Amino acid sequence: MGKRQPSITTENFTAVQLMELDSCSRCGECVNWCPTYDASGKNPGLAPRDKILRWREFMNKSYGLRARLFGPKEIPLAELEQFKNDVYGCTTCGMCATVCESAINTVELWESMRANLVKSGIGPYGKQGMFLKLIGEYKNPYMADNKDRTNWFPPDIKIEDEAEILYFGGCTAELRQRKLALATARVLNKLGIKFTMLGEDEICCGSALIRTGQYFINDTAKKNAQKNIENIKAKGAKTVLYACAGCYRASLIDWPRLTGQELPFKVVHVTEFLQDLIKKGEIKWEKSINKKVTYHDPCHLGRHVGVFEPPRAVLESIPGIEFVEMERIKENQRCCGAGGGVKAGIPDLALGVASTRVEDALATNADILSSACPFCKRNLSDGRDAIGAKELEVEDVIVLVAEAMGIDLSDTPAE
Ligand code: SF4
Ligand code: SF4
Repeated sequence: MGKRQPSITTENFTAVQLMELDSCSRCGECVNWCPTYDASGKNPGLAPRDKILRWREFMNKSYGLRARLFGPKEIPLAELEQFKNDVYGCTTCGMCATVCESAINTVELWESMRANLVKSGIGPYGKQGMFLKLIGEYKNPYMADNKDRTNWFPPDIKIEDEAEILYFGGCTAELRQRKLALATARVLNKLGIKFTMLGEDEICCGSALIRTGQYFINDTAKKNAQKNIENIKAKGAKTVLYACAGCYRASLIDWPRLTGQELPFKVVHVTEFLQDLIKKGEIKWEKSINKKVTYHDPCHLGRHVGVFEPPRAVLESIPGIEFVEMERIKENQRCCGAGGGVKAGIPDLALGVASTRVEDALATNADILSSACPFCKRNLSDGRDAIGAKELEVEDVIVLVAEAMGIDLSDTPAE
């Protein structure tokens, strides 16, 4: 009689990751910091430590000594389904990796587990299964006509056909949170920066597919990255500006991995670009914003890549702003709750995490909770509305820059 096949495979795991599963000391520090575990009412299934221990157990049942001698032990499908629910209840914020005493790169581990489950037909979770079809068919996850990315810009916006600087707007700012795209374009125009954009040739950066373990299907994420890189090169760009933390992280880290090539351009967040101009004295402020402002670090801009100071430096240079910090910031920031496919897949969980982050902001008595990512802004606004904190304004740093430069954004089309 042939031996039973393992219920799970080792696909998508590197040798280091397989060792990482064994290096968890069960200390539980990660559990103390996990935002989705907290927001779920401390559902033990969402605790990062327990996900590692369960996957370790799955591996032992499938490939351990006993499995090698007597054949793999079956893992019931219901158990794998439950694990899927739990591993997708994670925003991939990276807080658990930051505090892990065994230095386990947990985010990469969660993403490998997700890809493994997708390959075996168990993942992804709920509506996340639509990402591939939408991005493949529409080139964006919003089912929008890709022509609408920039054709709505008012006629005063000057975009060059080709330029050394390209603004990669991203699906969310171009198709949904248009105030951010308009603010970025008008700020660059007012500063006399010649820039170009991809318009309808821009394709989703692939972040949603990568974070939810679906990047490998039909090679969609890789093909999109290659196409975007080719189109950016064809525009003559040497520096690409991003106002979306998700696109920024995908371009900087995921595109080179997917394509196996270094990027032929520099990846810069708009706040980094503006900080440089402020240092050179090239930004003239025309208005004061006499408000108390706090700043939420987007996971994909902060903890994932280490851009902490530029948004703060920009805010602190705006006349009138009294900048205040929340208790959990920078490496120890608390996630907004939107990332990792949670906003699309488990919106109630996303809202719960956002509400807690809004409470953090309210504790500072800030008038404005700012961030540097349209996806954070969306979820923090939803969290603000959910707890009825109407007095708190949620706004992007770039929009505040535009306001202080005397730029009018009242003609932004409705979402
Ligand atoms: S990445 Fe963030 S949400 Fe996911 S398990 Fe770790 S701490 Fe929790
Ligand atoms: S912090 Fe690291 S070592 Fe400690 S329980 Fe979590 S994953 Fe394991």
